[in-house]
Amino acid sequence: PLKDGQKASQASEGASELQPYAGVRAFDELPISERTKKGLKEAKYVSMTAIQRAAIPHALAGRDVLGAAKTGSGKTLAFLVPTLEKLYRLRWGPMDGVGALVISPTRELALQIFSTLKTAGKHHNLSAGLLIGGHSVEQEKERINSLNILVCTPGRLLQHMDETPNFDCSQLQVLVLDEADRILDMGFSACVNAILRFLPKTGRQTFLYSATQTKSVRDLARLSLKHPEYLSVHAEA
Ligand code: ADP
Ligand code: MG
Repeated sequence: PLKDGQKASQASEGASELQPYAGVRAFDELPISERTKKGLKEAKYVSMTAIQRAAIPHALAGRDVLGAAKTGSGKTLAFLVPTLEKLYRLRWGPMDGVGALVISPTRELALQIFSTLKTAGKHHNLSAGLLIGGHSVEQEKERINSLNILVCTPGRLLQHMDETPNFDCSQLQVLVLDEADRILDMGFSACVNAILRFLPKTGRQTFLYSATQTKSVRDLARLSLKHPEYLSVHAEA
């Protein structure tokens, strides 16, 4: 669990008059499905962390989010809760194909995200898969279009975009770029650009999270986000 004493940025406080849910501190008070609330409650997630309080209301309102917060601040649920809600509100189901992509720099981080997704999404009728290498790519190819939420590393995702016939992301509703600074530091810039070219340009919501704001992160943000809400949360000294 996280310590308290983290402070939301000016950006989110300044927006509070426009944000009916900006003052909300508990997941239970958010305008989200009972299914998500139940999953969170069972995992003992009760009050939101600062980045979750700042980001989730904007994301639920349909906006793109550019989020900055240090490691351990709870960024995973800040993007997974709105991702689940978006698909739930659209009545996304097993036949609707790939609705959300979550891109993470490493296998280990992708596994952690996947495990949080299974927890928070436990009571939803959505399927999810991990595309991280290490498994048989042929088996992934057979299942990939029947999965609703894909958690991937950039290289493996691009491999499927290149090699898997009929890999269909044309209905994509949510794209998450997690730890964007690390993705770029690891040399995946060209890979992520190729992924972005493969995806539909319109109709999706994008969440980009990064611990640091470098020029290359800003370039990626320009390429992937539309009129994002910039939310930066710092721990108090
Ligand atoms: P980040 O991605 O910012 O590094 P994580 O999303 O991995 O952070 O979360 C860090 C830890 O905090 C995890 O163990 C997670 O289960 C826990 N955590 C996240 N949100 C909450 C919350 N609202 N209440 C309690 N613990 C939380
Ligand atoms: Mg993280």
